[in-house]
Amino acid sequence: MSNESIVRYRIDAEDNISFVGEGWSQFAEANDGAELVRPEILGQSLWNSITDPVTCHIYQKIVSRVRQGKLAKFTLRCDGPECRRLLEMKISAVSDGSVEFESRTMSVEDREPMALLSRKMPRSTELLRICAWCNRMDVGLGSNDWVEVEVATERLHLFELERLPQLTHGMCDDCLESMTDTMDELETDAR
Ligand SMILES: [Zn+2]
Repeated sequence: MSNESIVRYRIDAEDNISFVGEGWSQFAEANDGAELVRPEILGQSLWNSITDPVTCHIYQKIVSRVRQGKLAKFTLRCDGPECRRLLEMKISAVSDGSVEFESRTMSVEDREPMALLSRKMPRSTELLRICAWCNRMDVGLGSNDWVEVEVATERLHLFELERLPQLTHGMCDDCLESMTDTMDELETDAR
């Protein structure tokens, strides 16, 4: 994936994925969405591909504002095992109720490969929450202590484990707050 890549995809008026641009496969891969790489993704509801209910709800609200003529823009992390990646997401109305998602890579920073983010590692049945927006992980066991993957690996002594926990998407308090602000802004200038 090049550092300057732009990935576009669209949903139709019924929220079904109607178009995916070049680079979609890499994007889906990096987004922890191997199931999204298959071509039969076309025609499927976008909401089937978002596992965290809070994240799904926020995207649904954004899409409804965008259909009223707003442009949504925010940044999110989309890390791979060997890099931290910051994306800018733009969501805009196209025509006939279609909505376009455009993600542009803002920056990529290499790091030591993190096994926790690798698909190839064997997993236990334990679950570890990863924020779908900033990619930090909740090591607080319910008390909301979200840290970078390097810190999580250390804090949870994952080097010592034969099988790593499975990652499950969630949303941290900081991201919930900042996306709530983003949505409030979309709401405020609505005419
Ligand atoms: Zn977050």
